[in-house]
Amino acid sequence: MAEIVVIGSINMDLVSSVERMPKLGQTVLGKSFKQIPGGKGANQAVAISRLGGDVAMIGKVGGDSFGAELVEALVKDGIDVSGVAVEDGVPTGIAAITVDETGSNCIIVNSGANFKVSSDYIDTNIEIIKSSSFVVAQLEIPDNAVMHALALAKSLGKYTILNPAPAKELDEETIRNVDLLIPNETELEITSGMKIENMEDAVAAAERLIAMGVKEIIVTLGEKGSLHVKEGFHKKYDAKKVKALDTTAAGDSFIGGIAAALSKGKSIEEAIGLATSAAAVAVTREGAQSSIPYINEIEV
Ligand code: ATP
Repeated sequence: MAEIVVIGSINMDLVSSVERMPKLGQTVLGKSFKQIPGGKGANQAVAISRLGGDVAMIGKVGGDSFGAELVEALVKDGIDVSGVAVEDGVPTGIAAITVDETGSNCIIVNSGANFKVSSDYIDTNIEIIKSSSFVVAQLEIPDNAVMHALALAKSLGKYTILNPAPAKELDEETIRNVDLLIPNETELEITSGMKIENMEDAVAAAERLIAMGVKEIIVTLGEKGSLHVKEGFHKKYDAKKVKALDTTAAGDSFIGGIAAALSKGKSIEEAIGLATSAAAVAVTREGAQSSIPYINEIEV
């Protein structure tokens, strides 16, 4: 039981570095291989914990060695895993990631046990949700489970944060159950149905979602920073200037910073400060969970 519950995916990232991508039907030799815990749900739970938040996770892994390793990694990070079940006979979610010398990547995600997280499974864990104040979700588990979790959380009076990734259209009921939506630019385009080419477009798209019932939005804009929008108000925040090495988990570190800070009673402005600093550290390091910083490494 914890102040914040993350409901979402738990994956093992299998990362191969290659000189160049294989063509269809071709085999190339890899330069290196790494196995790094990932999945947006797990990454955000780890980020929240490392940034000072008290967090529990609801999700599923398969009955294989990846599943056991991933749960162990969450426990090591101080996360309550009483809501993480092992689904025997189903593989743990994986992301097979290939990165070439230019930094471009190709990714295949096999959702595995993540797709066994159902509405019924969320109900099984209702006590964890009841005892929390904040519920954080993404879209890497079945849509109906996310919709159900947000509706349940709202009916219990919780503050809900949704990171609509991977990008999908959201139905109006889901939108109404979100207190704080944190999309990147592509996710904002798809959830709002509006093309975004500049800051005015981003504000207009966020305002459309607010008119549909989201309370507040923070749009992450990569190296351009972030944009906070609520009814009748918007403010742009710059990113920190750093030498980016790998942006994996930048968004997850940002969301972790927001949730951790809000749970400590900080304002959205202060939360964006922590989130921006945490994400800036994450882009200077490789991998998903391996790149997420601890609170004592942060300069706000
Ligand atoms: P990812 O999926 O790669 O984790 P995302 O698309 O969800 O990322 P972004 O908008 O790319 O999210 O980045 C999230 C936050 O990370 C930004 O708002 C910014 O604060 C920080 N950030 C991203 N890229 C950079 C960069 N090159 N330099 C400094 N900060 C960055």
